[in-house]
Amino acid sequence: MARKFVVAMMMHETNTFSPLPTPIDSFARSGALSGAPAIAEAEGTNTSLGGFIEVARQAGAEFTVPMAASAHPSGLVTEAAYEQMTTAIVDEVRKGCDAVLLALHGAMVAEHFDDGEGELLNRIRRIAPDVPIAVALDFHTQMTEAMIRGASIITGYRTYPHIDMADTARRSGRTLMRMLAGEVEPRMVWGNRPIMSSSLVHTPSREPMKTLMGMANQAEDSGQVLNASVFGGFPQADIPHLALSSVIVCDKRTAEGEVLLNRILDAAWDKREGFLFHPEKLSVQVARAKALDGGPIVMADHGDNTASGGTQDVMSVVEEALAQGLEDACAGPICDPACVDQMIKAGVGAEVTLQLGGKIDMPAMGLKGKPLQVNGRVKAITDGQFVVTGPMATGTTVRMGRTAVLDTGKMLIVVSEKRAEPFDLGVFTHCGIDPRRKKYVLIKSRQHFRAGFEPIAKHIVMCDGDGCTASDLALFKYTKVKRPLYPFDLDMRLGRNEA
Ligand SMILES: [Zn+2]
Repeated sequence: MARKFVVAMMMHETNTFSPLPTPIDSFARSGALSGAPAIAEAEGTNTSLGGFIEVARQAGAEFTVPMAASAHPSGLVTEAAYEQMTTAIVDEVRKGCDAVLLALHGAMVAEHFDDGEGELLNRIRRIAPDVPIAVALDFHTQMTEAMIRGASIITGYRTYPHIDMADTARRSGRTLMRMLAGEVEPRMVWGNRPIMSSSLVHTPSREPMKTLMGMANQAEDSGQVLNASVFGGFPQADIPHLALSSVIVCDKRTAEGEVLLNRILDAAWDKREGFLFHPEKLSVQVARAKALDGGPIVMADHGDNTASGGTQDVMSVVEEALAQGLEDACAGPICDPACVDQMIKAGVGAEVTLQLGGKIDMPAMGLKGKPLQVNGRVKAITDGQFVVTGPMATGTTVRMGRTAVLDTGKMLIVVSEKRAEPFDLGVFTHCGIDPRRKKYVLIKSRQHFRAGFEPIAKHIVMCDGDGCTASDLALFKYTKVKRPLYPFDLDMRLGRNEA
């Protein structure tokens, strides 16, 4: 008899400072939340759901997908959405299964639970106390005791931009299959350090995270432990369990895992200054971009980054670039459904004046939306769909909604109905813009843009634009985080440039 697996995805990185609500509609990016259409959408893609489907197929298991929910980062998940997603998963497990494979983010905050993943695992454990549960998490997980108690195996992405999503599921699935075969008995040890690491500087491809992730990878890849993961945490969330953490999956005996865990976490604490972000004036950054030779010069606005919960309609960087006279530029996507509508009604070739972006206030940041008046010609209209060809989420379909391009003469601005992180060149190429042939490429991203845009960039200039994903943590009002927390306490000044 074939084994029966329940495979599910419930992914959201919640920015508690974001003004954008997160209802169930936000989770149905593929159009289908479950069953065969959801499997067809995910299978073969470089995502953790795609990886788990591969694990189930290779095991010859019968499997169902009762929930395949993934939303862009945004504000609190509504109670109704959370209950719908978790009920679908729990009800399927209740029918009986040999294993549960969960593609989760690890930073979900719902209106009524600040540890969305821990609560899901609690609910599964209440009805299936002994079923093996393999979990794949994002690198930006906020780890909790409830997640550790609930899961049998946990792995996290080793990369940022996240180009190893499917592989993270395979790593978890490999240990699960050995567990089901009776070869290993996974036991997890975990811990954290009170460090709020800036996501602008904590990628595992660079120090100081490189050293930490290197220790974890070496231990797992050499077979010293079953799995080892490090999690950077996600600082734009006001929750008690914000910290830098690590999870080691050991076989039966945990002593060796404890030693490794403490080595990783002690190294994190020793290197904590390297996790600080140093803010700079936007006008200085744009002037620096203007002074550079050659191109493309990729200008990444990390203050309004969709993949961290940004509204994607803050115009501060585009405004400064136009004010300083940058030319031969492309920019976007800016999310503004009303302007898309206006451009489509005007038609390709028409002259329009737009009050672009700035439609959404950000009360938690004390920011009012501020549209930018721009004049230009409608250059293109598209359905906003393309298949990702770059290394991150390869093979998935991005759906930006109806999309239009405004040509101001100096800048081509892509405006879309929905939010989409520009991690793939497709955000421009699908509407006839080749960013490789532009002097300046203005995008809203913190790190994921590097997957698609770093290979084409002659220079990269990070831009401290306004928004609810700002990297200067002094701009956020935290009331629920557990103190002391670096860099707010202990020896703890915010790192700042003197200039
Ligand atoms: Zn992440």
